[in-house]
Amino acid sequence: MADDAYKSTPAALLALRCPRCHRGPLFKYPAASWHFSDMYDACAVCEQTFEPEPGFYYGAMYLSFGFAVAIFAVVGLTLNYLAGDPDTWVYVVVIFVLSLLTTPLAFRYSRAMMLYFFGGARYDPKRAARAGH
Ligand SMILES: [Zn+2]
Repeated sequence: MADDAYKSTPAALLALRCPRCHRGPLFKYPAASWHFSDMYDACAVCEQTFEPEPGFYYGAMYLSFGFAVAIFAVVGLTLNYLAGDPDTWVYVVVIFVLSLLTTPLAFRYSRAMMLYFFGGARYDPKRAARAGH
């Protein structure tokens, strides 16, 4: 196995790497970039496609919605119980700012989860070992 391949699938998913070789990055730019949404068409290491079919990532919107609901719930409960239930505008501002700040992460992880769970590619250590050496 190549040294820079992530050994576990959850680790590769967290690192936003290719689901088949665990090496090639899914995204072209860092999350803190205006181009945070730009993906490679295919893996640079093993040539696994990152768009199995047209419109594949529409399903990622539901996962992204799940992230948004989780942020709402955590912020709401935190403000209510730890900050003594402040005025409504505090909830609105905190949720708005946090949602804005986490948009690149929610976008990228919802797409990565879509690719890992529904993209049909399984980890193949031989792919990671063969390519690039
Ligand atoms: Zn790959």
